[in-house]
Amino acid sequence: MELTERAIQAYAGQRRKMIEEQISGRGIKDLLVIEVLSRVPRHLFVNSSLQHRAYGDCPLPIGENQTISQPYIVALMTEVLQLKGGERVLEIGTGSGYQTAILAELASQVFTIERIKPLVQKTKELLEGLRYQNIVFKIFDGTYGWRDQSPFDVILVSAATPSIPTALIEQLADKGRLVAPVGERESQDLVVLNKNGDRVMKRKIGSCKFVPLIGKFAWSEEE
Ligand code: SAH
Repeated sequence: MELTERAIQAYAGQRRKMIEEQISGRGIKDLLVIEVLSRVPRHLFVNSSLQHRAYGDCPLPIGENQTISQPYIVALMTEVLQLKGGERVLEIGTGSGYQTAILAELASQVFTIERIKPLVQKTKELLEGLRYQNIVFKIFDGTYGWRDQSPFDVILVSAATPSIPTALIEQLADKGRLVAPVGERESQDLVVLNKNGDRVMKRKIGSCKFVPLIGKFAWSEEE
């Protein structure tokens, strides 16, 4: 994909306003997270007809019945993971790739799994056009995790699940952190899980509404 510097830099005013009103304004404090959200061109992660709404305070459709997550939720999930730069990250639900880009900016390597092939093709092209070189894609059911590449320091689940799939907890490194929307199909709690030796601690950091995680260890397509 041909991306000009001008196309990437567009919407700077709206990006600044998003940070002021939705990110800093709502309690996100991590300066690295704020800096990255100020820079990543969110408008390129939605269809061109929706670009003017890309910095609004809501999710937006990205095709295939899926959505790009609300900016605040992306910031909140990223902040709680406290990325320092050296982490290997597993993301379940690539979707538009916006969260993937944010993770790639802040960690060492991102392994991302998406079950819908046309989304992966589109997103891979965009992220390559934006020159990310530390993202590995896989088209599969992410409820199995990615055993060959485990353990992961950090796991982020970008779709709602009735419970955290066991494989993901197993594939999390010692001292690792996982964040996921857990609950009913209509609404969920954002749950952070910390692994410490054999101990697993969970806490809720907010509520949210994600599209469902569809797979062997989550919901089935017909439900
Ligand atoms: N962070 C993404 C969220 C996209 S919506 C963004 O902001 O664009 C959630 C994504 O999870 C969808 O693309 C959906 O197809 C995907 N998904 C759902 N179940 C999945 C599964 N079992 N494995 C991998 N991806 C899944």
